[in-house]
Amino acid sequence: MATAAVVRPSGTQNAETKRGTCPICGAACYVQAKIANNRPIAIRPDRTAGHPADCPRAGQAIDYHDHPDRINYPMKRVGKRGEGKWQRISWEQAMDEIAEKLSSIRDRFGPEAVQTMGGSYKGAGDMSCWRWSNLWGTPNILYQGKNCGEAELLAEWAVYGDQSCIGNAPIPGVTKSLILWGVGGSMATSGQVKNLKAYKAAGGKLIAIDPRATDITELADIWMQIRPGSDGALAYGMLNTIISEKLYDADFVAKWCIGLDALAEKVREFTPERTAEITWVPADTIVAAARMFATNTPGHIPFGLGTAESGRSTTAAVFGKCYLRAITGNLDIMGGSRFADEPVSTRLIEEMHWDTLIDHPLRTRDNISSDRWPIASVKGLKAYRAAMAKVHPRGIGPQIYNMVVAPAAIPDAILQGKPYPVKAWILQAGNPLVALNDAKRLHEAMMSDELELSVNMDHWITPCTELADYVLPATDGLERPLLSNMWGFADAHSAAERIVEPLYERRDDYQLWRELGNRLGQQGMWPETMEEWFDSILEPSGTSLAELANQDVPWLMPEAPDRRFEKVGFATASGKVELSSDLLESLGYDPIPEYQEPAWSPEATPELFEQYPLVLTTGNSLKWYYRSQHKHLKVMRRQHPYAQVTLHPATATELGIVQDQIVWVETPMGRVKQQAKLEPGMHPRVAHADSHMWYPEREAEGDAHYGVWESNINAILPDGEEYTDYAGDNYMRGLICRLYPVE
Ligand code: SF4
Repeated sequence: MATAAVVRPSGTQNAETKRGTCPICGAACYVQAKIANNRPIAIRPDRTAGHPADCPRAGQAIDYHDHPDRINYPMKRVGKRGEGKWQRISWEQAMDEIAEKLSSIRDRFGPEAVQTMGGSYKGAGDMSCWRWSNLWGTPNILYQGKNCGEAELLAEWAVYGDQSCIGNAPIPGVTKSLILWGVGGSMATSGQVKNLKAYKAAGGKLIAIDPRATDITELADIWMQIRPGSDGALAYGMLNTIISEKLYDADFVAKWCIGLDALAEKVREFTPERTAEITWVPADTIVAAARMFATNTPGHIPFGLGTAESGRSTTAAVFGKCYLRAITGNLDIMGGSRFADEPVSTRLIEEMHWDTLIDHPLRTRDNISSDRWPIASVKGLKAYRAAMAKVHPRGIGPQIYNMVVAPAAIPDAILQGKPYPVKAWILQAGNPLVALNDAKRLHEAMMSDELELSVNMDHWITPCTELADYVLPATDGLERPLLSNMWGFADAHSAAERIVEPLYERRDDYQLWRELGNRLGQQGMWPETMEEWFDSILEPSGTSLAELANQDVPWLMPEAPDRRFEKVGFATASGKVELSSDLLESLGYDPIPEYQEPAWSPEATPELFEQYPLVLTTGNSLKWYYRSQHKHLKVMRRQHPYAQVTLHPATATELGIVQDQIVWVETPMGRVKQQAKLEPGMHPRVAHADSHMWYPEREAEGDAHYGVWESNINAILPDGEEYTDYAGDNYMRGLICRLYPVE
């Protein structure tokens, strides 16, 4: 694909220093950038702003902004899809043609025939997409919250009507116990690590649950080296100990919880001994961890990606974590599992227009996965809204999590028209061919003539942009303003101004949706610029984007009360913590989920396990990459040039594998190549394979671009109803595999 040459600044005599945000990933950490002639010439962390850019990737910010492989102009496909033939066109032409095609698809197939999808966080780009989708009338929205926070958030909202798992750090000297459950050490920022060390130094207890040794397990009082995918059994085993030994907060449970007897019955079979057999964690360790957490309050269990991607086992794991927080009396207390307040100090909730989607005059169908995973659908959204109405009458900030479609449904809708056809796909900054399971079927769908329109907006050419009909250039974090509260998680907003004008023809993601909206019946609903939109969102708080961005600490963060439930009850239909959830039951689920083994496991498929005798886990975070991104950046690639599969040295010896050897990683679906890394801290019966790997330097092989099938673990992971959790998240941990050298 054609890209423009880099133009370096010709002089630095008029350089000025500005505060902005790092362009490299969605964390939007603050930088101080020296700017000359509209170009960044030096970037360093801004330590005054409360969230400095100090991760190992941050040093590549200028390379990212200026990189010759960035997409700089709108492009239209002129050859066959995937053939790699492109024509540069204007934004006006691109918007006119895309709008015309969308209009035709809506006339013939309804507004639901449009699938929108976002990958990495992109400032207000995600929110603009959801706003447009809600105004347009499509409930088919997918973004990175799937396979991430969704399973855990929907569980928290079902059980007690608020979320505590995201945004709560332990408070040194106040928090007494902390369970870090499937929380990888490598992605922690230096501030988080510093806080964790301060928490430990103040006497806080740390329980770490991870199949491999990390910098977090090194700090732990108790490390449970779990079999990946058995997390739900471990949660139920800990509950069994806490309930049978009466270590729960009896006063809180009596006053505020319903369903303890049913929960006790559900976890009865998970004795320490039975749980040890399932999880590979010794029985006395399970009991010790349960006692430690229950008797050291306040305590907290934050979000962990490890429990969110374990397929069928995820459901009991995420609900089990909710029950653990609740019956130990840790909900919404200082130092415990505090609830995040929804963004009530701004107009954000109303701006998203979720209510418009519920009552949209053109929408006649629910989303394409609602028949199989009703928890995340319009029907689910309505059920949650009704249950939470007393405490959250306007809805909640991260309402998107009530809606995200299950990835497995997309190829079915495109290729088979089931449950109805999807004909257009608009993807922003996403690379689903290396991020979602059953990637070859997704590739088939992306190549299909049934898909009449495929649009990608991104920074980079990727295996997915190569299959699009239109490719659009996006601004990065230096070129766009920011008003962030990370998808509405809390009543906290950070702000930054645009510190350089966009290069070439890059545009804010917001402009994609505004331009389409203005051509498709949403005239008057989209302020002209992102800055104007942010000002209107902030208006109830009495500040503007520029004022907030230029404060010493550029955050709007009203003080949130704790123990709100004592005044208004919990945000559930009963006003209580529903250990047995009426909401789940109303959507056709078990009110307390059963523990289920992952679809492929030593317990569920012992005969298959004989052929694939290692437990496979994937989906990790790597220090040098944010998911599928940054493969273009030389400094990062040098650190981690090829996909790696990690295994214990003794296991490697048994298999005839040596360090750095290229090996086949094979599952019952197929095999890919990765490089063996031997690590004594890995459980000897577990292998960890990198996800999200692709190689921008590789030549295309037919319609497969940039080595997309070479090491891509997602090409050999299954998807579908029998593999996923209750919300349809991909099954990326607790699978099975075999490893052997590539001859
Ligand atoms: S790369 Fe991401 S996490 Fe690292 S400093 Fe930049 S924005 Fe923050």
